[in-house]
Amino acid sequence: MAELDADVIVVGAGVSGLAAARALALGGASVVVLEARDRIGGRTWTDSAIGVPVDLGASWIHGIDGNPLWSLAAAFGIDTVEFTVGSFQFDGRPIAWHGPSGARLSPDAAASFVADLHTVDAALAHVVASAPPPSTYAAAIDTVLRSLGWAGDRAARIREYAAHRSEDLCGAPVTVLDAHGLDEEHVPGDEVVFPGGYGQYAAALADGLDIRLSSVVRSVTQSEAGVEVGLADGSTHTAGNVVVTVPLGVLQAGDVTFTPPLDAPVAGAMGRLGMGVYDKVFLRFPDRFWGDDWVIRQQGSAGVDWHSWYDMSRVTGEPVLAALVGGAGARRLETLPDAMVVDEGLAALRRMFGPTVPAPEGCRITRWAADPFARGSYSYLHVRASTHDHDLLGTPSGRVQLAGEATWGDDPATVHGALLSGLRAASRLLGHEVQPDVLSAPSTLGA
Ligand SMILES: Cc1cc2nc3c(=O)[nH]c(=O)nc-3n(C[C@H](O)[C@H](O)[C@H](O)COP(=O)(O)OP(=O)(O)OC[C@H]3O[C@@H](n4cnc5c(N)ncnc54)[C@H](O)[C@@H]3O)c2cc1C
Repeated sequence: MAELDADVIVVGAGVSGLAAARALALGGASVVVLEARDRIGGRTWTDSAIGVPVDLGASWIHGIDGNPLWSLAAAFGIDTVEFTVGSFQFDGRPIAWHGPSGARLSPDAAASFVADLHTVDAALAHVVASAPPPSTYAAAIDTVLRSLGWAGDRAARIREYAAHRSEDLCGAPVTVLDAHGLDEEHVPGDEVVFPGGYGQYAAALADGLDIRLSSVVRSVTQSEAGVEVGLADGSTHTAGNVVVTVPLGVLQAGDVTFTPPLDAPVAGAMGRLGMGVYDKVFLRFPDRFWGDDWVIRQQGSAGVDWHSWYDMSRVTGEPVLAALVGGAGARRLETLPDAMVVDEGLAALRRMFGPTVPAPEGCRITRWAADPFARGSYSYLHVRASTHDHDLLGTPSGRVQLAGEATWGDDPATVHGALLSGLRAASRLLGHEVQPDVLSAPSTLGA
């Protein structure tokens, strides 16, 4: 291999790749970032097509206590709004619960349902801890309901809540999610969102880096001399090491080939973990017609796909509602044209708020599963996987290591997990631990 193009090639300019590249460059390495799309940020993507910034990918910092994104927000000058309910909590910002008929639950009925959720959660922790593998989250919920002796509508409401929790937080049907798949969902501290969008992190992290957009990587070949990365246009780049941060769905589809193949523990984990789907439907209305609650939830069969609406006016002041849809519902909606999705969403809102709900003036709808550079929304612990698989996926194979949310066992499927996985990859290559605050240090990168 002739002279190398860089010390390190980073594949992917999402938060993990940008954090890795920034840490490496600040540590003195020469770094080239190869990104398939014509934009940076990956699954953090702030878009203003409906006239106000909305986050098409990640929205929340899931728990600010001890979270590196929280201190980086201050360092980067990123404004936040507290919006504690993104982890499907029932005790954060106010939620309007609507029963199966569409009518809003009375305060007593809502309080009784929330008390039931607390009771189940308290029992669930023990059941999950003692569940013999392989056990699904659905089976753990059933065990709890049996032990409580609950049946009929009371049990049905709990089962459907658990299903929505699994579909939203993991993008996965509750029947294939491992019982431990939501272990890490305890959120320390408030949750916050960004009026100016999550994209501000990617912009700050990318400052001064050598990022080559529209560079679709197809192959990674390592030898004793280094690594050769092949692009879809036939060109190649060489480096001493490579950090590959493409999403798990892209890896599982075989869109990037590795020669020699990745080591067995990495390949095994890749095959066992799941890639979930979670999409967003933003509807911009002429005015706010809904009440003072921050979230609106529909119970029963009417809420199978349209169960949660988030009031975005709390974030930007503009009358926008966001329906968040995961799992099978998201996969089904991805097959429909925008107009049909909007019609379904409007019907769901009219069931709760009556026929006077106006048609939206604008819409923005995501299709993360259909996106060839995501092939899903985030990774999850499939029942066939082990709780070690996320971290195994990040084990180096010679000069190649994977990073990204799917490789971070403590908090997969999050932006902070992605960031920390990128720092772990950089730390290994630099030979010393890189702390997150390094990323906001004044620098002369690119000068
Ligand atoms: C709808 C949705 C909502 C979410 N909500 C939250 C939330 O509220 N809070 C939270 O913490 N997390 C949330 N997440 C998860 C979070 O967005 C991700 O965990 C995180 O952004 C992943 O970062 P990453 O760097 O690992 O991957 P990515 O951001 O996906 O970066 C990978 C990069 O690789 C590029 N790439 C792919 N294939 C190739 C190729 N062949 N060649 C070159 N480049 C390639 C991609 O274009 C991309 O830029 C959400 C995700 C989605 C989709």
